[in-house]
Amino acid sequence: MGYDDYDSKRTIGIRDKQILYRNAKGRCQNPACGKKIEFDEMQVGHKTAWSRGGRTTLANSVCLCYRCNKLQGTDSWATFLKKQRVVDQKPQLKKSLQALTLSELKDLASKHKLIVTGKIAKGLFGSYRQDPTKTQYINKLVGVVTEKEINKVLAKDTIFH
Ligand SMILES: [Zn+2]
Repeated sequence: MGYDDYDSKRTIGIRDKQILYRNAKGRCQNPACGKKIEFDEMQVGHKTAWSRGGRTTLANSVCLCYRCNKLQGTDSWATFLKKQRVVDQKPQLKKSLQALTLSELKDLASKHKLIVTGKIAKGLFGSYRQDPTKTQYINKLVGVVTEKEINKVLAKDTIFH
């Protein structure tokens, strides 16, 4: 088997590529990206990396932009998505959480059974634990809540105020 044969097995055929592109509606299938790409630009990612035994089939393929294909590396699609969620949604979630009041953050935290503790401070009568700040709540919540939940709380705000 020559090098060309070896390499051609790593990517799906042109017909499958067209189907993949059409199914992806011409967009990168990384949900954190979704960039519109030309057919020529499409990178065929593997849900299970070829180097890890993932097969070169349409079902194992994802339509990716150049950047996301590089980003995925040899991670499986599932691992990649997990990482994307951590990397890309955190700043957005934090921003959304900032819009909530302290008591709303408290409610969310208790809903998720999160224990948020304040800093130890030195007072007149020895050290004591301060109430957690908004930032402390947000840092705990950001790994747990979804955008949807935050929007629900925000929606309640607009009804009652
Ligand atoms: Zn992308």
